[in-house]
Amino acid sequence: MSPTTYPSDSGAPLNPFAAVMEITPRSPIIFVSGQGSWLTDSTGRRYLDFIQGWAVNCLGHSPKPLIEALTRQAAQLLNCSPAFYNDQMVRLSDLLAAHSGLHHVFLANSGAEANEGAIKLARKWGAKHRDGAFEIITMDHGFHGRTLATMAASGKPQWEQLYEPKVPGFPKVPLNDLDAVAASITHRTAAVMLEPIQGEAGVFEATIPFLRAVRALTREQGVLLILDEIQTGIGRTGDLFGFEHAGITPDIMTLAKGLGGGVPLAALLAHREVSCFDYGDQGGTFCGNPLMAAAGCAVIEEVSRPAFLARVKQAGRRVADGLLGLSRKHGCSEVRGQGLLLALNLGRDNAAQVVNLCLERGVLINGPRPNALRFMPALTVTDDEIDRMLDVLDEVLGEVKAQ
Ligand code: PLP
Repeated sequence: MSPTTYPSDSGAPLNPFAAVMEITPRSPIIFVSGQGSWLTDSTGRRYLDFIQGWAVNCLGHSPKPLIEALTRQAAQLLNCSPAFYNDQMVRLSDLLAAHSGLHHVFLANSGAEANEGAIKLARKWGAKHRDGAFEIITMDHGFHGRTLATMAASGKPQWEQLYEPKVPGFPKVPLNDLDAVAASITHRTAAVMLEPIQGEAGVFEATIPFLRAVRALTREQGVLLILDEIQTGIGRTGDLFGFEHAGITPDIMTLAKGLGGGVPLAALLAHREVSCFDYGDQGGTFCGNPLMAAAGCAVIEEVSRPAFLARVKQAGRRVADGLLGLSRKHGCSEVRGQGLLLALNLGRDNAAQVVNLCLERGVLINGPRPNALRFMPALTVTDDEIDRMLDVLDEVLGEVKAQ
């Protein structure tokens, strides 16, 4: 039944979404199933998905390894108190530690929760080891989540006046401005926190020289480096973690999105030397539950294969080359990003129109800025699917140009 045909007693159509809290504009489509790069709505129409749950479904919709892991684990053990170890929590923590070079892992449920944990850990470390330092320098336009502290850490201009008073202690600097970072470090500074690529801001990369210089500066000044890899981690950029491109290692890292491959799972990772929570400082009812941890293990086992990551790079080049070609043809501007986290600067503020016209043609893409499109398909996207998305975008860009 289509959303507009639900009958009421009086015969007038009812709003089928009346009970859903309105927190964002949504089209009246109701999705009911997904497979790989494709979603199907309640009328049976199929859509090619280049959003994938906001860069979440790294193996696509309902991938076999995830279904198998979840089904097996659901029959085995769903949950036990976080006050006990469980085998999947231990297995996933070991996998993440081995791949990242960090030593201790706290599993959580969302990116914001993992970042909130990172902020608390840095403050605890500052209290213990840097004479009460508590400030965390973050970047303009950065995005770290929607809890009160992570909103304060974010540099989203639209949030400046929201939910006042803000959690204090997050001085902001422009991305890629090393002098500004250096000038902001004081005796109050506990850490510098940033995303290797600012995804929500519209896909703006921290340059490799900047990442390396910030790593060196934070070491020299005796403050921590926190990398928020919630969007860039788990193969999204073509390496398992975004920091690998710069050949650095953070003191603290957060992961979410791709880690669960579609289910709510996040992680806070820390070097053993800064991992200083005391009992009771951190926790959560669902943190480290075996069902989600089993999903994370299945994802890491797939995504960390060298052949898988090589394919992400290859697919990313195909999308980027295709976008560059469209940009030249239709007079757009630059293509930004790495791997399968890419953006096209349209050169004018018509992203919402382009997104809607693509949706009408059955292709889901995102417009994070008025002038930019973002592409974050499944890491398993095929060449045919990439070409199909590019064909539809070509048609749409031609149509808006003609208007
Ligand atoms: N950090 C980054 C870099 C993100 O992109 C996001 C979400 O888009 C978050 C944190 C927040 O994650 P979550 O929505 O799972 O709380």
